[in-house]
Formats: sequence, C-alpha cells, structure tokens
Amino acid sequence: MKTIRSFTLVLAVIAAVSLADRFHFGAAFGAASPPSPGFVLVAHGGAGDYSNMKPEQIEMRRAAMVKAVQAGYAILARNGSSLDAVEATIRVMEDSGLFDAGRGSYYTRDGVPEMDASIMDGRTLNAGSVASLKHIANPIHLARLVMEKTPHVMLVGEGAEEFAKSQGIELVSPYLFFNEREWERYKNAKSAGFSASEEHGTVGVVALDQTGNLAAGTSTGGTVMKMPGRVGDSPILGAGTYANNASCAVSGTGTGEFFMRNIVAADICERVRYLHVTLDQAANEVVMKELVEQHGDGGVIALDQKGNVATPFNTNGMMTATVRADGKMAIQGWSKNAKPIIVSATK
Ligand code: ASP
Repeated sequence: MKTIRSFTLVLAVIAAVSLADRFHFGAAFGAASPPSPGFVLVAHGGAGDYSNMKPEQIEMRRAAMVKAVQAGYAILARNGSSLDAVEATIRVMEDSGLFDAGRGSYYTRDGVPEMDASIMDGRTLNAGSVASLKHIANPIHLARLVMEKTPHVMLVGEGAEEFAKSQGIELVSPYLFFNEREWERYKNAKSAGFSASEEHGTVGVVALDQTGNLAAGTSTGGTVMKMPGRVGDSPILGAGTYANNASCAVSGTGTGEFFMRNIVAADICERVRYLHVTLDQAANEVVMKELVEQHGDGGVIALDQKGNVATPFNTNGMMTATVRADGKMAIQGWSKNAKPIIVSATK
C-alpha cells in the first residue's frame, strides 16, 4: 500500500514538473534562468503605400526578402557575426532590383540613381557610411569597407567611389541600374511634377548574434525625384541607422528629412537607455506619435539584446521579415492587417 502511495506521489511530481516546463511555471519549482534570446534578424523592405502595387509585385518582393533573410540566417546559425549577417542580407536585397536600393534604386530628377548606405556595430560603435554613389552595385559593402579600412565614418560621391576602386570594387555603368519599372516611375513623376511620393522601398536589417552583439544597416536610392546631391537619413548615424549594445539597433525607412530632424534611430535607443522604457514603447512613441504629429511618414525595425523586436510604421505598409533561432521566418506588413506568412529560413 505504502509503495503504491509513494509511486503515485512520484508520478504526480513528474506530471507537475512536465506541466511546469510546458507552461513555464518555473518560479514554483525554483526560478529558471531567463531563456537565452539565441539570435534574431529583422529586415525591412521600405515603408509606404503598397495598396497600388500588383499582388505579383508584392509576391516578388516577399520572395526576394525570404532569399535575403535566408542568407543572413545562415550566417547567424553558424555563429557568424551580426555585422556579417546585416551586410549579407542587404546585399541580396540590393541585387534583387526589387527594392529602392542597389539595382532597384529610384532615380533623381536627372534620371539616374544616387545611393546612400550605412552599417553600424553595436559592440564597438564603429560605423561606416556612404552617400551620393552613382556607380556602386552594393553600397552596403562599401559602407562596411569605410568602417573597416579607413579612419573615417563617412565618404561621399567621387571620393567614396575612388576609395571603392582602391579596394578593388568595379565602378559600374549607370545602365546597370536601368530598370523599366523605375524608368516608368521617373517619367510619370516627372510629367506629374511630383517632388516626392508615398512610395518607399529602402532596405534595412538589424541583427543580434549568438554572442549577444547587435548591428544595423540601411541601404537606399532615396526618395523619388529627389534633387541630385540630396542625401537622406539612411547614411546618417542616429537618423536612419543606429546600433549600440547598451540600448538597441534600429533601421528606419520613410521621408528621410523627418528622420534626420528627429534623429529617429538614436532617439529610440536613447529612450531605452536613459528612460528605461521598453523597446516597444520607445519605438512607438517616436514613430506613431512624434513623427505623426509632424506628418513624417515612415517606420522602423528595432531590436535589443534581449531579442525584443518592435516594427511600428505609420504608413499603409512596411514589409518586414523576422527570424529567430528556430528558423521560422514571419513576413508581414504589406498592409496593416496582413496576416504574417511563415516560411522556413533554411533553404
Ligand atoms: N529614408 C529614405 C530617404 O529618405 C527613403 C526611404 O526610406 O524610402 O532617403
């Protein structure tokens, strides 16, 4: 009888422990250490209005994003750095020709693209940035080289392209960036006299690697029909891109003039750091309140060292893809109420 009673007791304890494990009642059985965030990568493909975009175009952007994030995921999964993951993911998006970056860049009023990009390491605060590039296929790579191979943070225009040549990067003809879609957009915008547009397709990535380091990067062709020589927020540290292990990593997209005036990326991180608010509160306060009050359109992706993610946007859409160590990638944001599509991050 006694053996049956103690056997029942043992069974009850096993059941309770496995229940606790399942429902995370750790505290009742001695506090479990908080789960390690593992690694996380979040990418965006620009905030804006997707409502006039054909479903096939949205689908093409989604597919390009999946491919890009798979490249970043593979690096993080084999214990690579967040910087490498950010660069690799952005390069795939630049090469796709489907976003306002690299081969898909919007044109200036002169009918050619001018590209900006930046990358930042949250561990060291090292950063590299480039602007007003006309002959560089992968601006994000050049930004990385500025960070690693020069004593400077930012190089622009001809000087940046001369530096690229010295690093063995081929200067490509503007025809490389010619693309029917952008040419149509340019002609329409020109004939309608538009100086700006609701459309954005900038790309950006934030990542947390297995060693707990954050990084952020952004690459863009800027806004439609911008003046030649105009530089936006994307290459400006603290405006369109920022990363600091002490607070967070952010990449922004939207009308850059507002992001520069409001130092959006740094403001979000410094709120986390000094006001001790959550990442979500900080990002929402800046994007959904401060920017909205000024009619500044756009959104951000933000990530902290605990693996918290915030992706607020005040436009109709902002396509994002988020992946964690479990390899389930969630793509969403082409409309406010688009249900996330889950795909595998492993090819
Ligand atoms: N922020 C970019 C710029 O102003 C544009 C964008 O995100 O679409 O250059």
